[in-house]
Amino acid sequence: MPIIEIICLANSRKHSGRCVAGVRTDGKGWIRPVSIMPEGVLQDRHYTLDDTSEAQIYDIIRIPLDKPNPQPHHPEDWLIRPETWELSSRRLTAEHIALLKASLTLGPTLLGGVEDRITYPASAGNDIPSHSLALVQPENLHFIVKSRKSGDKQVRVIFDLMGTQYNLAITDMEWEPRLRLKELGTYTLEDFGIPSSESPLLTISLSEPLLSEVAGENRCYKLVAALFLAPTGWNQSEYPIETPAIVAPATTKRGAKHKVEEAVAEATETPSSLIRVAVAGAAGRMGREVVRAIMEAEGMTLALAVDHQNVGVDAGELVGLGRTGVPIVEDLASALAVIAVDVLVDFTLPDSVFNNLKIAIENGVSPVVGTTGLSQEQLEEIDRRAKAKGIGAFVAPNFAIGAVLMMEFAAQAAKYMPDVEIIELHHEKKLDSPSGTALLTAQKIAEGRVNPPTSLPSNTVEKIEGARGATFSDIPIHSVRLSGFVASQEVIFGGLGQTLTLRHDSLDRRSFMPGVVLSVGLRN
Ligand code: NAP
Repeated sequence: MPIIEIICLANSRKHSGRCVAGVRTDGKGWIRPVSIMPEGVLQDRHYTLDDTSEAQIYDIIRIPLDKPNPQPHHPEDWLIRPETWELSSRRLTAEHIALLKASLTLGPTLLGGVEDRITYPASAGNDIPSHSLALVQPENLHFIVKSRKSGDKQVRVIFDLMGTQYNLAITDMEWEPRLRLKELGTYTLEDFGIPSSESPLLTISLSEPLLSEVAGENRCYKLVAALFLAPTGWNQSEYPIETPAIVAPATTKRGAKHKVEEAVAEATETPSSLIRVAVAGAAGRMGREVVRAIMEAEGMTLALAVDHQNVGVDAGELVGLGRTGVPIVEDLASALAVIAVDVLVDFTLPDSVFNNLKIAIENGVSPVVGTTGLSQEQLEEIDRRAKAKGIGAFVAPNFAIGAVLMMEFAAQAAKYMPDVEIIELHHEKKLDSPSGTALLTAQKIAEGRVNPPTSLPSNTVEKIEGARGATFSDIPIHSVRLSGFVASQEVIFGGLGQTLTLRHDSLDRRSFMPGVVLSVGLRN
């Protein structure tokens, strides 16, 4: 019994369960894994992957299958075995992208016609329709939220395929509920924070058959089962595609195989694609610097900007670099569902950062984290989740090279001078105390010490509580919050008849940017 690997291209609502579909990575066309339940509906125990996440668009998944189960209206159906699906990877290779391109249906016909449905004799054999799944990259895509006679909302996608306009219902798990939240009306992708420069892909699937008004005739509607952005590298290996969706093994179609090989070769030859970066906290003090740094960095592109402030404002315009076509959006999770991102740079707030990181990792996006205030338990949890997903995660309480050196020098000095106190000085709007840099410095000092610090006299009196600062591993830390500072720290060592002071000052937030850009580049 086979285990077949697919690139997941749909995980859509079907009654109270799901319909998953994808293109086989062996080039043999589409598969729709179905269960033995009515109409083949999948339940969460079916599409929950071995890493406990849910199947997502572009996941490479190995599915234990029983046998082909072609239906007249769904020739691509295969019965699943009651075993867990295995997530092979969340990164598309050039070969995967070539397969997707070879699977594109160009139109103007879509699944055998230009209507929003197909009809066929209820008694027909297995030859109608010839396929029930298609991948398209349409033009002029927009959405309509309408009201049915019953008062229910109806949400539809309108798009052009080589001059033919389609108007289809959407069952995509993310988009259908998002559209339902909208008032009646027409919406563009930009209304959902997606730049007009993006042209998304759609997976179209035929519905289950309904009896038509005409006796003895079945009808199946074409549904938008998934809407998602083209993967990174999609536009770097443009090549002409004449074939419709793969419905037969590519290896038996000489033309199709040739095109796949050509595209792989082209994609491999082109320079590695730009790293697509999302910035969370993009409207904050640090976030604005990060947006600027990413826009100016080579080999990177700003793909997404998230913040609660300045929502809808173009991120490039906000930082004075001109229009980028990336408006600030408010909700990270729904943006990542539709925008392809490689790295999330987070400079938000102690309350927000942990949840953002969980969302990023869940979506296979590597986090680079500057936000301070994460607890040790949270750091360990992030480490565990990133490892389980096979992606990198980078957390640094201070991205300034001078501050990193200060911490290293402090660890060295602690070997010889165990008595030490830290004074950290930051701007008055910093929310957490002590700073993440002070805590990491103290941790490094504690690890670098060979001898314990000198004990203070037992009759020491703190006349005002807190006068001696907070302590971490016997190291007092004093936090100063004053306007005028960006981020400074002094580490003062005391010894017999001498002191040694290490001091670092970030005078400008740009001091952190080389470190941030370097970390984004090392994303794995
Ligand atoms: P800030 O100016 O307050 O900016 C934070 C921004 O993030 C605010 O606009 C905030 O909006 C927004 N935000 C909050 N929750 C969010 C969420 N869930 N999704 C998206 N955006 C969200 O703070 P900052 O001065 O830039 O500092 C940010 C963090 O970076 C702090 O933790 C600071 O300690 C740290 N930092 C690190 C380094 C380093 O090198 N690692 C250097 C400097 C600062 P609202 O105000 O509406 O919540």
